[in-house]
Parts: sequence; structure tokens; C-alpha cells
Amino acid sequence: MILFIIFLIKMKIKTNYNEFICPCGGGQSCIIDRRKNKDWVHEDDVFKNNKLPLRKHCFQKYYNSQKTALQKFFNS
Ligand SMILES: [Zn+2]
Repeated sequence: MILFIIFLIKMKIKTNYNEFICPCGGGQSCIIDRRKNKDWVHEDDVFKNNKLPLRKHCFQKYYNSQKTALQKFFNS
């Protein structure tokens, strides 16, 4: 019985993790949803190429280094 309860708790943690919802509410342009669906995320590409950290969700503010990288991309 105790093992079963532990199993249930583990399942719940796993489920919650998988269902992390972005503060933006999700959708087609949501970076979390797009990553989940293995869609191409433009800013991720730019940040990876520049060895910068990726944003965890849509409402996370860009670091200055990230802003610069994006601006450079759009200006080139
Ligand atoms: Zn989002």
C-alpha cells in the first residue's frame, strides 16, 4: 500500500512537470509549446549559436546579451 502511494506521488510530480504551462497561456507562438512539439524556435537557435542561455518561458525578460544577439541577427 505504501509503495502504491509513493508511486502515485511520483506520477503526480511527473504529470505536473510535463504540464508546465507558460505564463503566456501557451499557443502557437509560445516557446514552451513549440519546444514541446519539437517546433523550430527562432530565438533558441540564435541563443544556441551565441552560447547564451535559453529563456524558460515567454515572459522571462531578455538579458542584454540575448537582446544584442537577436538584434545582430535581425540587422544582418
Ligand atoms: Zn509561452
